Amino acid sequence: MYDVIIVGAGPAGLTAAIYTCRAEKKTLVLEAVTYGGQIVNTRDIENYPAAMHISGFDLADKMYKQALELGAEVKFERVLKIRDCDGELCDAGGKFSDGDGMTGLKEVVTSDEVYHARAVILATGAENRKLGLSGEEELTGRGVSYCATCDGAFYKGRVVAVQGGGNTALDDVVYLSDIAEKVYLVHRRDEFRADAKLVEQVRGLPNVEMVLGYTVRELVAGEDGKLQAIKVANKAGDERELEVAGLFVAIGQIPETENFADTIKTDEAGYVLAGEDCLTGIPGVFVAGDCRVKGVRQLVTAT
Ligand code: NAP
Repeated sequence: MYDVIIVGAGPAGLTAAIYTCRAEKKTLVLEAVTYGGQIVNTRDIENYPAAMHISGFDLADKMYKQALELGAEVKFERVLKIRDCDGELCDAGGKFSDGDGMTGLKEVVTSDEVYHARAVILATGAENRKLGLSGEEELTGRGVSYCATCDGAFYKGRVVAVQGGGNTALDDVVYLSDIAEKVYLVHRRDEFRADAKLVEQVRGLPNVEMVLGYTVRELVAGEDGKLQAIKVANKAGDERELEVAGLFVAIGQIPETENFADTIKTDEAGYVLAGEDCLTGIPGVFVAGDCRVKGVRQLVTAT
């Protein structure tokens, strides 16, 4: 039995663990993949106060170690369901309701176990949005990637493309421009969501060509089953074929709340409805980080 179970070991979940442990609450953090969340894909973080320049992996590692040092237990299991238990006697079929009296134990069902806690904090974050193109799944790992810092090194001296216009896409372009011979930045508009400073940096890179107003419409595989080219098109129907060995897709995220959709209220996009107080409307269930409805999704707002 735990006081608090935290679902997700990204910056929001690990920060929550640091706080619950300091409040002397017996804390379990459950993480489906690996700790750190999305920041592990960022090579250089320079907007986290006091950290100056630090890689996302190193910062995540520090948060993880801090949570462990303060007494958090971390298990790598995927949470499949959260449901209510009826007081001391846990009813396996129990469900949340909007009514009163839902202050009993929570039951957290994972791929491996069933755990119990007085409170649950959802900090599941978000996963990368896919382009939804034919062959995308088959070509993932064979030219299509969602993580430049993970896979960029495979494209040393090659030509690659990045699709997207946010901070992730432009960070990826900066990173890849050091490794690849040339980087196409394909973005569906001619304005960027990314920070102005980053856009300016990308504009100054000699081996980057911006393909603005275009989106990737087709992935072309070679005989070896690897990505060979992409076809991009704009709204007017103009098409271009770009010969690339790699395509890095950075078109935003989808919140990882699907498993809780039957119990937790979300907006249409799947973000959990809650304010800065992190209250989900279900007593004992809280939400933090990128999976919550919010205006700005940044590392500092997650923590
Ligand atoms: P984002 O800011 O949501 O940007 C997604 C980009 O993909 C947008 O430019 C969007 O175009 C484009 N897009 C969305 N769906 C598309 C589709 N189906 N086809 C083509 N293009 C599509 O996502 P993000 O860049 O991953 O950033 C997520 C959050 O993390 C943001 O709050 C960001 O500031 C933050 N972040 C911060 C840093 C940093 O501060 N260093 C680094 C990385 C991420 P439109 O612009 O036309 O909508």
